[in-house]
Amino acid sequence: MITPPAVTTNRPLGGPEHAATSPTLETTARGSAVFIPGAMPSQAVMPTYARQNLVFARGEGSWLIATNGDRYLDFGSGVAVNALGHAHPHLVAALQAQAGVLWHTSNLYRVAEQERLAQRLVAATFAERVFLCNSGAEACEGAIKAARRYHYANGRPERWRIITFEGAFHGRTLATLAAGGNPKYLEGFGLPAPGFDHLPFGDHAALEAAIGPETAAIMLEPLQGEGGVRVVPDQCLQGVRELCDRHGLLMILDEVQTGAGRTGRLFAHEWAGIAPDIMAVAKGLGGGFPIGAILTTEAVGSCMTAGSHGSTFGGNPLASAVGNAVLDIMLEPGFLEGVEHKAALLKQGLARVQDAAPGLVTQIRGRGLLTGLKLSRPPAEFVSAAIAEKLLLVGAGDNTVRVIPPLTVSESEISEAIDRLVRVARQVGTIA
Ligand code: PLP
Repeated sequence: MITPPAVTTNRPLGGPEHAATSPTLETTARGSAVFIPGAMPSQAVMPTYARQNLVFARGEGSWLIATNGDRYLDFGSGVAVNALGHAHPHLVAALQAQAGVLWHTSNLYRVAEQERLAQRLVAATFAERVFLCNSGAEACEGAIKAARRYHYANGRPERWRIITFEGAFHGRTLATLAAGGNPKYLEGFGLPAPGFDHLPFGDHAALEAAIGPETAAIMLEPLQGEGGVRVVPDQCLQGVRELCDRHGLLMILDEVQTGAGRTGRLFAHEWAGIAPDIMAVAKGLGGGFPIGAILTTEAVGSCMTAGSHGSTFGGNPLASAVGNAVLDIMLEPGFLEGVEHKAALLKQGLARVQDAAPGLVTQIRGRGLLTGLKLSRPPAEFVSAAIAEKLLLVGAGDNTVRVIPPLTVSESEISEAIDRLVRVARQVGTIA
């Protein structure tokens, strides 16, 4: 048996300016962090997030347990990442088994788990080729590169511009920021990367008019998550597909948030009965382990020849083993039907939340277990009031709060969350 290592205090390092700072964490002799209740957030972490002052010690299914022992119902799923909840035994076993054998070899060699994951994604989707990477932004960036490369390889190098939509979010790299076009996120980072044309959300005529001789692709999320849980209707996705076919463009779907079972299909575009040429995936595919993937048709993927793209970590044995374990569960017969069933329950419950405060909750949005409450004001207050009710939610754009439980959530957890949401809505709804 391994005895727990002694705990030693880890006082902040650095010059005299740090000397007066109180300790933020303690560290065990083996180096793992132990939280001191009441400690200040560490100044060592770059202040890029306005974080809630909550530290979680462990997770169990749909629950996160804080360092003080409080149990929170997690209806944020780490921003749609913990698709199978916390500490799912199958994922833990897969990670532990792989960790004891082989973590990383680089892509200079064949990687068995990577090939298996790619093959399974090909078998389960429209795709014929897969590139594995580490995050959503990296998958979107690679998707953009693949679209441009396709036209280049087919003798149309002038086709490099990508049409994107207002409210989109594709990540935080320089190209994906430019693709999203949100001025708030672009501020202070120099001129946005060129080659993106931003159009209003849901204006088909504007879309058709914007297609020009330099257009390579149309890129969109089937449902804008960060943008406010705004669903692109099936007929619009079909319309985009038709436009792409008519003009020789590629359709890029960003399914980073909507993919991996979140909407009740393995990928959200399946609802519309269409297939993209390129798809970016991440988040739920790793269930919490960092992973991303670019899925393409053969026509696109075959243009990504040796040397045209790469990633040191992408598809390494550890990440791929977890990705395969996620698919083991999601591809089980009945799993996605179960998501649909729970989604119907959640939607019914959210109607009760709206009834509790109709002036505050103006609309219920979403598809599957990617749902949102559109509020009459910014969501921060609602998210904080939910924390007081020990319920975790995620804010989004367009005055929306996301309600995105793990896909493994139980019916009783949904009904518990709805009771808490009703109390939150009543309380926030009475604040002027
Ligand atoms: N695309 C979409 C639709 C997303 O929701 C996100 C993240 O929220 C990203 C891309 C970026 O993913 P990541 O944060 O893993 O880079």
